[in-house]
Amino acid sequence: MGNDSSSGAPSAPSNFLRGIIDADTQAGKYAGRTDQEGQPLPTVITRFPPEPNGYLHIGHAKSICLNFGLARDYGGRCHLRFDDTNPTREEQEYVDTIIDSVGWLGFSWKDAADEHQYFASDYFDRLYEMAEWLVSAGHAYVDSQSADDMAANRGSFSEPGRNSPFRDRPASESLDLLRRMKAGEFKDGEHILRAKIDMASPNMNMRDPAIYRIRHAHHHRTGDRWCIYPMYDYAHPISDAIENITHSLCTLEFQDHRPFYDWILERLAEGGFFTKPLPQQYEFARLNLTYAITSKRKLLQLVEEKIVDGWDDPRMPTIVGIRRRGFTPESIQLFAERIGVAKADSWIDMSILEGALRDDLDAKAPRIVGVLNPLKLVIDNYPEGKSEECTAPVHPHHPERGNRSFPLSRELWIEAEDFMEVPSKGYFRLFPGNKVRLRYGYVVECTGCEKDEHGNVVAVHCSYFADSKSGTDGANNYKVKGNIHWVSVPHAVKAEVRMYDRLFGDPHPDAGGKDFRQALNPESKSVITAYLEAGAGTAQADDRFQFERHGYFVADRVDSMPGQPVFNRIVTLKDSWGK
Ligand code: ATP
Ligand code: MG
Repeated sequence: MGNDSSSGAPSAPSNFLRGIIDADTQAGKYAGRTDQEGQPLPTVITRFPPEPNGYLHIGHAKSICLNFGLARDYGGRCHLRFDDTNPTREEQEYVDTIIDSVGWLGFSWKDAADEHQYFASDYFDRLYEMAEWLVSAGHAYVDSQSADDMAANRGSFSEPGRNSPFRDRPASESLDLLRRMKAGEFKDGEHILRAKIDMASPNMNMRDPAIYRIRHAHHHRTGDRWCIYPMYDYAHPISDAIENITHSLCTLEFQDHRPFYDWILERLAEGGFFTKPLPQQYEFARLNLTYAITSKRKLLQLVEEKIVDGWDDPRMPTIVGIRRRGFTPESIQLFAERIGVAKADSWIDMSILEGALRDDLDAKAPRIVGVLNPLKLVIDNYPEGKSEECTAPVHPHHPERGNRSFPLSRELWIEAEDFMEVPSKGYFRLFPGNKVRLRYGYVVECTGCEKDEHGNVVAVHCSYFADSKSGTDGANNYKVKGNIHWVSVPHAVKAEVRMYDRLFGDPHPDAGGKDFRQALNPESKSVITAYLEAGAGTAQADDRFQFERHGYFVADRVDSMPGQPVFNRIVTLKDSWGK
């Protein structure tokens, strides 16, 4: 798709951001720009700007799909930028996992010429140079008030702020102080650099916001070179402008920061640092997902208090967690497309995420049989020691994917739920005297069961009809209402299966300051031993299957061993929540 596309990708649903980009493209707003080497720049350049201070979660995935998706659909590009201006909270571990997660989601920040992976800390020299210019031009000053005085003079929503007594100190004095701040002559908090805007502005963010503060702290990339660090609100728009970003998309809480975003870039354009058109900020609603929490701080608490088994616990809404759970990147992209983007915050129901997952997996996942709650079924009239192959399609809607086969023998595992000694009304599966079809095999008639001394059923008995095998002419002579799955006892693969469900039982686990630990779903994880169709034994890590009648499962990417997969339940076949 070329840059001159006026309607965006035909398949992508429209949203207000596409409307804005379409209008900009039509007006030629960002047309004809070139980079420093004179190469033409795309008319849409977005960026995903995570702070490397935690693991990405499903909310970030929305932002990733949005930023990279728009760039892709408009023939532009999206930068991966680490917003690492805050020295103490950032670590390499987080940089690595973010790179990994964005790549896994299916997006790339590389193009033919460049990597387009950036760190805000790479701009520290230029950010500082611009700060000196702002001081010289009278747009910024060093404030030497105490933190308390500064807070007191800031005013409130109903009251204007008061000018700092240092606001009108000569630019040369501010410049000297700024240089000495940089040289390390002062302690943290002794001075601060502020933009000179309007202490009476109704927008608190315009009341001379801080742009540089003293912080004697080690930075994960610049080490001890700096002891002053730029504020986010200062570094962010400048990073966007340095990278020639066109549309800078952020969540709604930054709406009140936009006037400063525009103010700082306007001043710097006047100073000759940037040429117009400048990047523009647009806000969209953040993702709030029911039955989940998406605050980095609370996710950290789940990990630290060992409520979950780490950042990649398959119940976590982190990207590493949902990846391990068995979600596909395509299902997340589909989800992001379905929820779209809006200008007002709202809740998205977990069932929409799970629905996208089911739709994606249904089309892809090969089918196998798994018995999760095993009970033995003995076919008394089937010869001992004999076995025969039964065939089934790999995928019922894709005959081209061929067939699989697995053995049937005298002793089978069936689901305990598929037998009732005394059937309830409407029960069509195994009970004495009733016939059912063993899926892909024979019709059998139940003859009774064996019990232990406590009265628990330990085996079910039946006899089979030798002319009833599925796929043969005789099969049609038998009309049965029940159809149950099974695996052959001597051939089955015994495997650990982790039955995961939603981590929280409450749709809004942390709403209104609630303690989300009270909202945990006690049944979010149970570990069982299951018997699976022989083919499951060769599953590789990350292989996904539909276990017929049960749901979708994946070979766990961490704990599976060659020839000995461990499975995670990704999602059940149908949504049973709230029903
Ligand atoms: P937290 O507030 O939980 O610590 P954050 O939003 O500050 O997370 P960042 O690393 O700064 O984390 O986020 C990177 C990008 O992802 C930002 O542009 C941010 O707006 C976006 N983002 C974060 N959370 C969500 C969400 N729930 N829905 C949509 N976008 C989000
Ligand atoms: Mg943030």
